[in-house]
Amino acid sequence: MIYFDNAATTRPLQLALKEYEDISATLFANPSSGHLYGISAHRKLEQVRDEMLRLLKLEKTHDLIFTSGASESNNLALKGAARQYANRGKRLITNMGEHSSVLNPLRALKEEGFEVVFLPITSDGRVDPETLRGAMDKSTTLVSVMSVNNEVGSYNDLKAIAEVVHSYPKAYLLVDATQSMGKDDIDLSMADLISFSAHKFGGTKGVGALIYRKNIKLHPEHDGGGQEHGFRSGTVNLAGNAAMAVALRDSLEHLKENREMASALKKTVADGLADVDEVVVNSPEDSSPYILNISLLHKKSSVIIEALGERGIYVSSHTACDARRSEPSSVLLAMGLSQERAENSIRISFSHDNTIQDGVEFVAALKQVIEEVKDR
Ligand code: PMP
Repeated sequence: MIYFDNAATTRPLQLALKEYEDISATLFANPSSGHLYGISAHRKLEQVRDEMLRLLKLEKTHDLIFTSGASESNNLALKGAARQYANRGKRLITNMGEHSSVLNPLRALKEEGFEVVFLPITSDGRVDPETLRGAMDKSTTLVSVMSVNNEVGSYNDLKAIAEVVHSYPKAYLLVDATQSMGKDDIDLSMADLISFSAHKFGGTKGVGALIYRKNIKLHPEHDGGGQEHGFRSGTVNLAGNAAMAVALRDSLEHLKENREMASALKKTVADGLADVDEVVVNSPEDSSPYILNISLLHKKSSVIIEALGERGIYVSSHTACDARRSEPSSVLLAMGLSQERAENSIRISFSHDNTIQDGVEFVAALKQVIEEVKDR
């Protein structure tokens, strides 16, 4: 198998699986229980929370709650902050490059009466800070911008964006850091809210976190026992959260060599495809080493992806969440690319877990499949 769909999810790290198993077996008490065993579980939960914040160098300024992943974190951040601070203003700003777990909650808030601005993105998949500046006003309470685009791998200039947002003291910045967590050495201290999922960096699925600046309050999405600082009721997944911290620690410890591996793989694949007439690259030059987005000019990408799958080679059309809907990529359209390119994109996403040989074999297989598949 060649697995090049690591932006959709990664193979869990052995270390993380071991932690999950150990904690499930030895510390399965409910951290909310008042007995000694529950208190031990609670202590472990707080240690994991502190470690996550320390690993990200955010322990002084921010706090963290555990969630089921980035989709939930984005929903809670957007709806929770918008509703909590509605008396300050009702303008919310995002952009067309964001994931559906940002765009759709904002569409729902628009229905509720909030004023929502969907900014365009540049041809290389970024938010232009000056465009953002033009859209800000005193009633803006929340701006949402991702760190790395999940389809093409473009980096946003978070420092410049935060400067614009914070020139309005009542406005908060949410950064969806799902595709950069454990992969990029990005300073996130300027973000007021940060969302991510564990399964994108070697943790288990259904686990994630929302980090928030200490003074921020969020209107909870559902009612219950008031766990997770009252913002997210429900029994926490201690084993999954502990495994996430192990995966994050390991990813950060090996960040440099993991990135070098991803860069070498991306180069192998991009160079290998450079002489194929049917292939155009959609990812900008300076995009994440973990993501290479291409389009096929005279072939249907769905047919090619299926043919690759029959050979045990796995890639996505665009995001795994939208892939089965077979709609053109909204990100590529927002970048100004043609309908044909947006309909026939392939996202190839790497991990340090892959080998250079995987890259070489992938190029050979893709060339062969392109030859074999009849013109549409
Ligand atoms: N945001 C981004 C940028 C993503 O890439 C993803 C996963 N495709 C999500 C949010 C949602 O993550 P999850 O499905 O784990 O909730």
